[in-house]
Amino acid sequence: MSSIPTDSFEDISTEFSHYFQVGSLTSSYKPVLLKSILFCIKRGKTQRMRDIHFISMDNIAIYFLKFYFSLYRRFNIKQLTSKNNKITIYRIIDRYIDEETTKLYDRDISDEIVDKIKKALYRNVIYLLRQDSYFYEFYDSHHDVIALPREIKDEQDFNHLLKKLDVHRREIAFIGIPDKIVLFIEMNRPILDAAINANLALFLEKINTVPNLNIKILAADGSFDEIRNISPLLKEKLCAYQNDCCFYCGKNMSDTAEADHFVPYNYLFDSQIWNIVGACEKCNGKKSNHVVQEEYLRKIQERNLEEEFRHVFFQDRLDSLEFAQNMNKILEQHYRNCLLNFKLLKKRNLSVDFGKEISHMY
Ligand SMILES: [Zn+2]
Repeated sequence: MSSIPTDSFEDISTEFSHYFQVGSLTSSYKPVLLKSILFCIKRGKTQRMRDIHFISMDNIAIYFLKFYFSLYRRFNIKQLTSKNNKITIYRIIDRYIDEETTKLYDRDISDEIVDKIKKALYRNVIYLLRQDSYFYEFYDSHHDVIALPREIKDEQDFNHLLKKLDVHRREIAFIGIPDKIVLFIEMNRPILDAAINANLALFLEKINTVPNLNIKILAADGSFDEIRNISPLLKEKLCAYQNDCCFYCGKNMSDTAEADHFVPYNYLFDSQIWNIVGACEKCNGKKSNHVVQEEYLRKIQERNLEEEFRHVFFQDRLDSLEFAQNMNKILEQHYRNCLLNFKLLKKRNLSVDFGKEISHMY
């Protein structure tokens, strides 16, 4: 019979340190599962009984899904298995969630999806995480402990051990964390969050070349207040500069003008003027999160170099021409990387009828 170390904060700290020192990750599941558990504690999605905080597997699965959904659909963060297939959670998202959905609401998450995710957690990670950071036990729907040893080698071993106890993995309804460990988590939350995110970013950086990955991780778990919007004044200046004509279709924008991130915001995660154009509502809506064809890259680069543009938008810089040239180089690099990122993912057919000028997108 196992017992979680609850004697002292030092013991608990050692357990967590152990987790962060375990060799390099082979997937992002472990840090994300730990994030999910911490998130449920933070949001009070726990039931407390007998000095134990019970977190339902359903709640863990839902957070797990939402986090991966953002990484995948919103930020195009790739994750492949060793066989170069999409990881299971991405396949679940593809199968059950409409590909046009970019924001996931609770009402979109069916019981069937939750079951699929729990299955993936049981198969891949829930017992392995416990091996590395030993702070929870498994419980059934009656809140009775399912006493498993700490060392569980693999899925087969896990199933075998459950069978000996006459339990099916589906019957694991909760994980239970003792009071003292929850207290430790609450007290050390900033450092634990930072350590998990760093761990995750290190892993993801190996397979993704996208800017601001660390901020995207924060945004995906809702802890980053994004500043996406361009100020109304700046938008007004930009539209006046464009004579109220849409950057893409050239038509008069009148009061439908919108500020558009040329390299999509969800890729760049920044709102610098050299990447912003005024677009009509229709073009902005069609472009959405996509990359447009190269002639528009040339067009925005030329615009950034124009003397009047520099005068209006970079006026406080003495080196505005040099600055614009450098920003254009950065813009082009981001454009190419973003394109590559979308192409590599081959995620959707992004062909969009964009009037005469923009015939297709990548
Ligand atoms: Zn337009």
